Amino acid sequence: MFNSLSDRLTATFKNLRGKGRLSEADVDATIREIRRALLDADVALPVVRAFTGRIRERALSEEVSGALNPGQQVVKIVNDELVGILGGQTRRLNFAKRPPTVIMLAGLQGAGKTTLAGKLAHWLKSEGHRPMLVAADLQRPNAVNQLQIVGERAGAVVYAPEPGNGVGDPIQVATDSIEVAKSKLHDVVIVDTAGRLGIDEELMQQAADIRSAVNPDEVLFVIDAMIGQDAVKTAEAFLDGVDFTGVVLSKLDGDSRGGAALSVAEVTGKPIMFASTGESMKDFEQFHPDRMADRILDMGDIMTLIEQAEKNFDEKETEKLKKKVESGEDFDLNDFLTQMAGLKKMGSMKKMLGMMPGMSQYKEQLANFDEREVDRVEAIVRSMTPQERSDPKILNGSRRARIAKGAGTTVTAVNQLMERFTQAQKMMRSMTRGGGMPGMPGGGG
Ligand code: GDP
Repeated sequence: MFNSLSDRLTATFKNLRGKGRLSEADVDATIREIRRALLDADVALPVVRAFTGRIRERALSEEVSGALNPGQQVVKIVNDELVGILGGQTRRLNFAKRPPTVIMLAGLQGAGKTTLAGKLAHWLKSEGHRPMLVAADLQRPNAVNQLQIVGERAGAVVYAPEPGNGVGDPIQVATDSIEVAKSKLHDVVIVDTAGRLGIDEELMQQAADIRSAVNPDEVLFVIDAMIGQDAVKTAEAFLDGVDFTGVVLSKLDGDSRGGAALSVAEVTGKPIMFASTGESMKDFEQFHPDRMADRILDMGDIMTLIEQAEKNFDEKETEKLKKKVESGEDFDLNDFLTQMAGLKKMGSMKKMLGMMPGMSQYKEQLANFDEREVDRVEAIVRSMTPQERSDPKILNGSRRARIAKGAGTTVTAVNQLMERFTQAQKMMRSMTRGGGMPGMPGGGG
């Protein structure tokens, strides 16, 4: 996400590097570049104007703080301002004091509401809630069915009108669902509503009626990040017609230029609360303006990585590994397998790597990264005996040939993996036994 914007901005800042002082002309040249980059990313013009205006003013007036050089100072200002237009502070879900908490979803057809309903339920479950999904989209023939499929994937209960009851009244369904949720002790109700291909009165009225009927704690407006300049118009129409409390950006994984993200919060004054980044249930994250700004400026998003890791790694195993490493013991391939299982649970490797700082320069390698590589590596390690895993030094030629055969690969691939493993081991050693971060280990699939 935001790839090209990120590239353009980081390239702009490169020109500032090493400058001892910034003249007004330097600042203006930088602002011009930022402005072009934002416009090319489909950010709405009024937002671009306000944004660059504030940056210029601050860049020319602020004292350069002692710790930063002028180039870094500009990056800091841009970062601050990006956080600002992305909504400032992280806005978390409001839960009702007396359950159930009602979350209503609104947006155009195809925006990603139904998919989001499932992801939200999946995420809420992982946070210890008992969500229930409600099919109040009775417009599209297949919508109820689709929500049921999504519910199954998320492992969440779906409340829908009985089949054969005709079209049904979405307002009634939504109202009834609250009582059902109460009686079945669901603490969160997620109401999926109908969308249309374009903004229309009837759609808005229906959504507004559902809203009055269920009095939701949150109304989330779901918007496809790929719709570019139309995002602002659509968001304003929904703000007017239904009103909403927060925004969800969907399809941020696509080839989206990111303009919607950078315009909608500023224009509507409503916070972006979640991002949907793919077709799988796990492709979903809470939106943190500061972390997103860091990602856009290629400073990485380590916090999100850590949180995802915390959810997916076995705490005991991780603790064991930590102790092992701290005590100066080498981690071995058995540990590696355990960690790999956790990594795989975290989802796409490509996405995770993309959250590391400085990754934009490896963009091409990243684009070519083959997720199956992870499985291939795992197959090799699984073909080893536990003894070989704990003491890789015993891997002689014939053992390597056997492992390659077992994993359906070549001895070269086994050798390459072992080489990388030894390097990683060395790196761990130098990190834990003083010497700090030696930097990213060199290349290779
Ligand atoms: P709705 O009409 O608003 O309920 O939209 P859907 O949830 O049915 O989504 C429309 C299409 O977009 C479906 O094909 C989804 O699989 C796809 N989709 C939804 N969210 C995402 C996302 O975050 N990334 C990608 N790549 N596709 C998505």
